Amino acid sequence: MTAHIPQEISSSCGTTLTEPHSWGQQSAEEKVEKAPFHSEDIRPEMKEDIHDPSYQDEEGPPPKLEYVWRNIILMALLHLGALYGITLVPSCKVYTCLTGMFYSWVAALGITAGAHRLWSHRTYKARLPLRLFLIIANTMAFQNDVYEWARDHRVHHKFTETHADPHDSRRGFFFSHVGWLLVRKHPAVKEKGGTLDMSDLKAEKLIMFQRRYYKPTVVLISIVLPTLVPWYFWGESFQHSFYVATLLRYAVVLNATWLVNSAAHLYGYRPYDRNIGARDNALVSVASFGEGFHNYHHTFPYDYSVSEYRWHINFTTFFIDCMAALGLAYDRKKVSKAAVLARIKRTGDGSHKSG
Ligand SMILES: [Zn+2]
Ligand SMILES: [Zn+2]
Repeated sequence: MTAHIPQEISSSCGTTLTEPHSWGQQSAEEKVEKAPFHSEDIRPEMKEDIHDPSYQDEEGPPPKLEYVWRNIILMALLHLGALYGITLVPSCKVYTCLTGMFYSWVAALGITAGAHRLWSHRTYKARLPLRLFLIIANTMAFQNDVYEWARDHRVHHKFTETHADPHDSRRGFFFSHVGWLLVRKHPAVKEKGGTLDMSDLKAEKLIMFQRRYYKPTVVLISIVLPTLVPWYFWGESFQHSFYVATLLRYAVVLNATWLVNSAAHLYGYRPYDRNIGARDNALVSVASFGEGFHNYHHTFPYDYSVSEYRWHINFTTFFIDCMAALGLAYDRKKVSKAAVLARIKRTGDGSHKSG
């Protein structure tokens, strides 16, 4: 894939890039920024999520699964609690349901707009108020701290569908969905994960702050607060608050996120690159606020929309664009149509409507 980079990356066309004031006054810096077909243009900040086809699995039998019983028990209890929560929904107070939905939307944005598009892939930049919102939202989602999430995710992109991919979809739906969290990581994941450049996140104080205080803050923000708020403010029963607003809400966002690793690597079309496992899956996009255009995303991991399109089944892009309108997000990276069409022609599976 790296061999094709000069062809497929166009000049950055993020909508927030300012146009030159007049053609005669364009600075040298702006000229460099807008030079076409230059891989450094679109996202000079980061290359750690670009697929490395040179890495191959070592020969030999796969290592034995080592179960992590603590995670298995906690995950089983969470899902049993969430199932029980479903039966309580009809008897919940309206405000409790609304709070649970609102909380899950915010938590989902903490993953999609935060951990994924901003911090794992650096597809846009965010000012401090937005980063503060996203780090709180991300803590609400309780999916490991951003540093760990991004390391797992970058290694998934770079060494996708090898033993170094933490949720290698060749090991089946269950493994790539949740099973990978219930067993010890494959040694190759640790080895390759350790070689990634994570210096951008290490240098970001907010990320390191979240990592240092992750346990107490996640318990407070993701479990204690959503349970106490409905109980304290509008007299919801403790049982309804805990099983619906906390456990059910948590399990729903977790599973929506996991579908990107499982369903979007197994079911769907590959309009942009037929040689990779990731697929475009509209249902996953609905469930995950726009993260299901996964064949596109693995082909062009530097595109802030994670899709050829912008607001089409993509609430996260809508959210980032709203933040950009408020001046809180900027430098959104978008691959040009011409580069996308060229790639579709060269490596697509023929399912794209342009083909
Ligand atoms: Zn990604
Ligand atoms: Zn993927």
